[in-house]
Amino acid sequence: MSQFWSEVVRQLEPYVPGEQPQIDGLIKLNTNESPYPPSPRVHAVLDEAAIARLRLYPDPNSRRFKQTLADYYGVTPENVFVGNGSDEVLALSFMAFFQQPKPLLFPDITYSFYKVYCQLFGIAAQKIPLRDDFTIDFADYPTDNGGIIFPNPNAPTAIGKPLADIETLLQRNTQTVVLVDEAYIDFGGETAASLVNRYPNLLVVQTLSKSRALAGMRVGFAIGDKQLIEGLDRVKNSFNSYPLDRLAEAAAVVAFEDETYFRSCRDKVIATREWTTRQLQELGFTVLPSQANFVLAQPTGDAADLAATLREHKILVRYFNAPRIDKFLRITIGTDEEMERLVEVLKAVI
Ligand code: PMP
Repeated sequence: MSQFWSEVVRQLEPYVPGEQPQIDGLIKLNTNESPYPPSPRVHAVLDEAAIARLRLYPDPNSRRFKQTLADYYGVTPENVFVGNGSDEVLALSFMAFFQQPKPLLFPDITYSFYKVYCQLFGIAAQKIPLRDDFTIDFADYPTDNGGIIFPNPNAPTAIGKPLADIETLLQRNTQTVVLVDEAYIDFGGETAASLVNRYPNLLVVQTLSKSRALAGMRVGFAIGDKQLIEGLDRVKNSFNSYPLDRLAEAAAVVAFEDETYFRSCRDKVIATREWTTRQLQELGFTVLPSQANFVLAQPTGDAADLAATLREHKILVRYFNAPRIDKFLRITIGTDEEMERLVEVLKAVI
């Protein structure tokens, strides 16, 4: 604590990202990254010429990437906003839409950055408890609110909501922004991007950190009605008008163009997830139904102890010392070999 800190900074409880330790031979299943490298086309675009062009500022409007996304999702570039990872897009969205007199609604168990942004931007938060089976029930969300945000699938539960339920929510909640954080949507859910032309208060946020394997590049985006995008642009251009660097934009474009590679990685992750789920169940774990690239699984014994034991075997998983989920481990889906090793170690230690 320093005397020079502002009151807001004194009160903050910053988000704690998963560890990125430098340990040889580590099996890293703690931050939901892709176990596969980005599209091979990324190599081709990060070439000498791209490096030579780094002396120039990037396109402040990321027009190439916006056009790529617009074509992909069947919208116009005016419906697209891009930023440095979806965390930045979320932060700008909180400023643009959720600094309201009424509280922002989100699930009690969800991405913990939402709470941090509320503190940072002075937004009142109202947490709506998940049902006993860890699902979101939109009937629990009052329409008298300053906005609604939730991940689909939710994190860290991995449980998804069908598109029809999201549309029902949008029909009911018309006066404030509904932000669907689709960080994990590609692993089994259906994107709400197809609804933005009909619901002017819907903002869909996605990332290239998971299914596109570019976590190290920091690229995220939002799709929504033109006026929502304009709101985000106003905030961005009051803060940092060059969001994507040249290399990130070039890599992001080809990551979206290489649909075949994207699908093959996604399908492998899904198949490995189903295999891992069965193995964990055979070992006595309760595994929540996952539509993501991770599972939330409850071992028969103490979860924190098991996480520590796995770490001794150079396997890193995520443990949250938080109400309702402190008996669970969040396990990212790695390669087949990594998950086989996990199961082998679990069999030996349980
Ligand atoms: N939303 C959710 C639900 C997440 O789990 C993450 C990853 N920590 C993010 C957003 C942010 O991802 P990124 O900033 O890498 O795009």
